[in-house]
Amino acid sequence: MDMYEVIVVGAGPAGCMLAQTAGKRCRVLLVESRDLHVPIEDGKEKSCGGLLNPTAQEVLAKLGLALPKEVLETPQVFAIRAIDYDTNQERYYPKHYINIHRGAFDRWMLSEALLSPRVDLCDRTTVVGFTPYETHVEVTLREKNGSVRQVKTRYLVGTDGAASLVRRHLEQKYCGPDEPRFPIRRYVSLQQWFTVEEEMPYYVALFDQRVTDYYSWMIPKSGHVILGAAIPEGKNVRGRFQYLKHRVQATGFSLGTPVREQGAILLRPYGPGSVYLGKGRVFLAGEAAGFISASSEEGISYALSSGTALGEALLYRKTPEETETLYRKRVLKLRWGLAAKAMKSVIMYSPKLRGAVFRSGLLSMDVK
Ligand SMILES: Cc1cc2nc3c(=O)[nH]c(=O)nc-3n(C[C@H](O)[C@H](O)[C@H](O)COP(=O)(O)OP(=O)(O)OC[C@H]3O[C@@H](n4cnc5c(N)ncnc54)[C@H](O)[C@@H]3O)c2cc1C
Repeated sequence: MDMYEVIVVGAGPAGCMLAQTAGKRCRVLLVESRDLHVPIEDGKEKSCGGLLNPTAQEVLAKLGLALPKEVLETPQVFAIRAIDYDTNQERYYPKHYINIHRGAFDRWMLSEALLSPRVDLCDRTTVVGFTPYETHVEVTLREKNGSVRQVKTRYLVGTDGAASLVRRHLEQKYCGPDEPRFPIRRYVSLQQWFTVEEEMPYYVALFDQRVTDYYSWMIPKSGHVILGAAIPEGKNVRGRFQYLKHRVQATGFSLGTPVREQGAILLRPYGPGSVYLGKGRVFLAGEAAGFISASSEEGISYALSSGTALGEALLYRKTPEETETLYRKRVLKLRWGLAAKAMKSVIMYSPKLRGAVFRSGLLSMDVK
């Protein structure tokens, strides 16, 4: 049976950063269920708004990484139009996101990780289970053709995103009545793509309690606009989305027939207590660990930072306990950041408080 030092489950931004960092000295296997050999245009990328916020830009800068031009989308816009249907107000705010093609971004991150000769990639392969032992972890992989095999590793890392199998298995095994739990809210995000003749010169954020207690968005992408919403799991997602569509059309946005639809689970932490870093030889990073903003749904910067932090901890590790201590230390600032976002979300998602902020005009700007 093959033996790796680190097996990373999921080649998203967290997994790629982790593989790249740990791959400086460790033998790493990066396992990804998607087919990474199909052309990017096939549109099988993760469902995402594809906006890199200034924090993500700063993280890339600190890592010495510069975005290649094929990752960039058009248009690049610098304002957000916030429409509050709950209080019938709207405002424009300056915003400095970079509009990216999410599929191209993930492929670029992967190519950076694979520069290390110590990193092996196994795509079209899903991790379906694992068993931790004192000295190693046995991982079960299922390939696309249905064949199943076991691989051994010293450390297993779940960077498998919001619907993380690794987190679920750890919680089932270890989080009981006598052990801490890490509660986190789950949303279903639905995105539809529409062809447009004229690009919107802004992003749109939509607030409507009849759709969600979170928010909805519109993002221009190369001749298209994405309409998306994050709706609490278990609610009437399709019905609420239809209602949202009617609402934005009534506001003057012309949408037509969707050319594409994407769905995904999205996590929303209550604060730092929602973050679960793992147990023993099994760790979590990125959204699987609960690293994502509770106010804006932005998770790419957290994925890059937590993936790097765990990769560094694994590089300098001697024991699982030392790795955990070092990882915990390196993500302390990120956890404080999550606490600040959770506090901000209390104001943003209370119609009364948000209405007062809109009325005050604080930080908003005039647009012709
Ligand atoms: C609709 C939507 C819009 C968003 N918009 C933005 C945005 O504009 N800006 C932003 O910063 N953030 C945004 N986010 C959040 C952001 O996409 C995530 O937080 C970020 O992608 C998390 O990165 P990750 O590497 O932790 O996980 P992911 O990017 O989710 O990657 C996980 C990978 O693991 C693979 N995988 C899963 N399970 C297995 C398994 N068992 N075996 C093998 N592989 C597996 C998946 O195929 C996937 O490639 C958005 C999220 C959603 C849902």
